[in-house]
Amino acid sequence: MPDPQSAIRNPQSGEPLFRRMTVVGAGLIGGSLGLAARQAGAVGTIIGVNRSAESRETALRLGLVDEATEDLAAGVREANLVVLAVPVHRIVALIPEVARHAPESCLVTDVGSVKSPILQAGDAAFPDGRFVAGHPIAGQERSGPAAARADLFQGATWILTPSARTRPEAVERVTALCGAAAAQVVRMDAAWHDEVFATVSHLPHLVAYALMDAVLHMERGEERLRYSAGGLRDFTRVAGSDPDMWRDIFLMNREALLRSVTAYREAVTRLEDAIRIGDGEVLRQQLLQARIAREELLHGS
Ligand code: NAP
Repeated sequence: MPDPQSAIRNPQSGEPLFRRMTVVGAGLIGGSLGLAARQAGAVGTIIGVNRSAESRETALRLGLVDEATEDLAAGVREANLVVLAVPVHRIVALIPEVARHAPESCLVTDVGSVKSPILQAGDAAFPDGRFVAGHPIAGQERSGPAAARADLFQGATWILTPSARTRPEAVERVTALCGAAAAQVVRMDAAWHDEVFATVSHLPHLVAYALMDAVLHMERGEERLRYSAGGLRDFTRVAGSDPDMWRDIFLMNREALLRSVTAYREAVTRLEDAIRIGDGEVLRQQLLQARIAREELLHGS
């Protein structure tokens, strides 16, 4: 149960941070934010905008939202905050529509995994700086409203990528909401965000999908897969993610992702060359360096 003493309130009015929060795309991320924000007492009413009747029914039944509609204009009309939590291409497409229908004082944020094109669209549609681009570093392979969890953002980093145009008080209020969801906010330049996440998130997803694809295309690939134990299963866990979502992310972050793919290809080639010529010492050095880097990643240097 939320502790009323700890509810996140606006110090001036004593009201919740946001009286009406509209989540466009109440799925895993949007629905989890709804649950977490409600638990913290940070929001009054939560409106969910979802296309499918099934998603709307699930979001209502699980208490992710208080009201559900398929009508974006109606859903955002009285909002104090709109959270765009649909796939990244849809976020870009919906920003001008939100600008058309939301009140002039309404803040708008998003949770998309690629930031530069979204920030550009947000700044263009909200020249008064009410758009705060964001990306929570939390998730799982399952998606949709049934996968939402109140603790999804607990201890997670939530990246905000404000531009020179973004109003500082808008960033502060979105930061407070992320804090209410128990996440820690880190600010980052949008272009650098996209470069970094091409490497640490988009590339591993691409490689996991590629590995499954490679095995499938080998002679008697399906038979080979039947013998797969921990290695292949652990390595390809993220290939269980939603293909539509990842297609959108790969295409939207094309340039940075292709730079990461090139670096990866070069690393594979170095291993390949050492194996081909049977240079055990070079091979061992590469494996050792990679292992040390991974240990530092997991346990700190
Ligand atoms: P999700 O669980 O599938 O939720 C997305 C929601 O958007 C769905 O409930 C769906 O609801 C709606 N939607 C899907 N396709 C749509 C379309 N073409 N047009 C309009 N609405 C559509 O996905 P998610 O994992 O929450 O991801 C949402 C956003 O969060 C994405 O931008 C993603 O990049 C970002 N993100 C994801 C993760 C992760 O690990 N999953 C982590 C950080 C950020 P209806 O079909 O009912 O409308």
